[in-house]
Amino acid sequence: MQDADLHETRHESPYLLINRAGRRAPMPVFPARNLWEPFAVPALPYREDSLAPVISAEAVALHYQEHYAKHVQNLNEQLRGSPYQYMQLEQILHNTRDEPAVSDLFSHAAQVWNHWFFWNSLRPGGGRPGGALAERIDADFGGFEDLRKELLRAALARFGSGWIWLVQEGGRLWVIKTIEADTPIVHGMRPLLTIDVWEHAYYLDYRHRRAEYTSALIDRLLNWKFAQKNFVA
Ligand code: FE
Repeated sequence: MQDADLHETRHESPYLLINRAGRRAPMPVFPARNLWEPFAVPALPYREDSLAPVISAEAVALHYQEHYAKHVQNLNEQLRGSPYQYMQLEQILHNTRDEPAVSDLFSHAAQVWNHWFFWNSLRPGGGRPGGALAERIDADFGGFEDLRKELLRAALARFGSGWIWLVQEGGRLWVIKTIEADTPIVHGMRPLLTIDVWEHAYYLDYRHRRAEYTSALIDRLLNWKFAQKNFVA
């Protein structure tokens, strides 16, 4: 991952990004809406109590119904009457990321995208990567255990609020951290999985113990089928 690459891709539309990243797997795209309607809160891909005991039903409900729904509500309020009102979510992100005057709008839009991706990055029971993705993990990290260590290291090193991502960029996989609401899709990177390391994601169940939350989530909830779908072999 080189600065030149980031610079080169920063103003691309999400649709150019699809072509650049590959033809075999479309870039993950937030569910399209009717542009004359506000954004709806996407349904959770599982029941609120099905991630327990790793994440309690109460913590999922608080995170999904309060934090997440509030971002959708704020996004809709800030879009109304703005030049971005009739855009899909990815277009909003790409058009607002370099506009300090609408940084709040960007943050809410990014949190809506990131959380949608996060809910899909989890599944009850978790699993392990397989097939071509497992081979790429072996080649790029030395094996699943090493990737696991890198995800944990990133989660602990992330100062303050943010996200940990497994991304594909420049022909290989990377573990990256983004600050607060920032999202890799505006940096030309293809996300495969993400972990929410904002305090609201774990405080109810784990208090300040972010490492415990992250390792439980990696071992028991990560949805490698979703990662496989986002991965371009
Ligand atoms: Fe969150």
